[in-house]
Amino acid sequence: MADQPAKSRFRIFVTRPIVDGPFSQLNNCDLEVWNGDAPPTYEQLSEKVRGVDGLICTITDNIDDKLMNAAGPQLKVISNYGVGFNHIDVAAATKHGIKVGNTPDALTEATADIAAGLILMCARRLMESSLSIPKGEWKTWEPLGFLGHDLAGKTLGIVGMGRIGYALARRFARGWDMKVVYTSRSDKPDANRDLGAKRVSLDELLAVSDVVSVHTNLSAETKYLFDKSAFAKMKPSSIFINTARGSVHNQKDLYEALKNNVIASAGLDVTDPEPIPLDDPLLTLSNCVILPHIGSATFETRTRMTQIVVDNLKAGLAGQTLPCAVN
Ligand code: NAP
Repeated sequence: MADQPAKSRFRIFVTRPIVDGPFSQLNNCDLEVWNGDAPPTYEQLSEKVRGVDGLICTITDNIDDKLMNAAGPQLKVISNYGVGFNHIDVAAATKHGIKVGNTPDALTEATADIAAGLILMCARRLMESSLSIPKGEWKTWEPLGFLGHDLAGKTLGIVGMGRIGYALARRFARGWDMKVVYTSRSDKPDANRDLGAKRVSLDELLAVSDVVSVHTNLSAETKYLFDKSAFAKMKPSSIFINTARGSVHNQKDLYEALKNNVIASAGLDVTDPEPIPLDDPLLTLSNCVILPHIGSATFETRTRMTQIVVDNLKAGLAGQTLPCAVN
């Protein structure tokens, strides 16, 4: 059979409107951007990917083997708008010869800022005290009102000392003189040397930390890592922060731990499921601060993410190694 002529134009489907300045660099592509208020359903996405050469997707899309089959054999590259890729069946993509890319580094500082903000909100009861004002509860300066906890000199436990974990540890080791302990699959010489951090077992971290912040990727190993037994090992005065993925904690166990003062408070940028159902009991607690998954939500960060998504897409369409390759 004669060789097929190389394609000169490519069809791309983008599953959500994203900050799109760098799209102007895709001059050999015809882009269709989903413009529904909600993400496409699995069925809608299966229809839209049919015949595309490239797919730009996000965390809300379930990209599995069946969807790749629905797309067809011309699909070359899946360029994910985000660093976590637990919603993509990477093994299936590799089997189909599809390259998968993500956006590490670009969102590290923005996400660490959100974790830092949640720590301050919990330690100093910022949400509760601010919400008391429109309720008319600020009557006078209160010597005993909204007492929180100092952070300076306390211990920060980082579960998953990767890019975001390190960026958070750097903020609090240098800015607040916090001691840092961490768990990771491997030792982190930079953190040990530059931040005076110490790698410990998870049990030791839970026992000694005043703040426990989770930064692992979601995997079979880390799913529900924070359950009843983990919370029971933490100090009653401690703060739990999750900006990684909602199912790294067991949400019912977290509610019980907060309700029964097993731990003092929690700050979450991620929930299980997302969005959190309005009847979830966590929403009734004043010691739980929840944000709607805004870790990377800055103009600068989201623009950098689009640039990487475009670079990955271009490389994938050209049959080259992706600058930020997952497989
Ligand atoms: P990363 O650099 O890959 O860091 C992940 C870290 O988790 C690595 O250090 C890894 O250890 C560690 N780890 C993995 N499994 C572990 C386990 N079982 N026990 C202890 N540590 C474990 O990734 P990142 O860029 O920092 O991002 C981390 C996660 O944050 C992403 O996967 C994503 O889900 C989430 N995220 C959320 C937002 C948001 O908007 N809230 C934004 C960006 C990212 P080794 O280094 O030893 O392998």
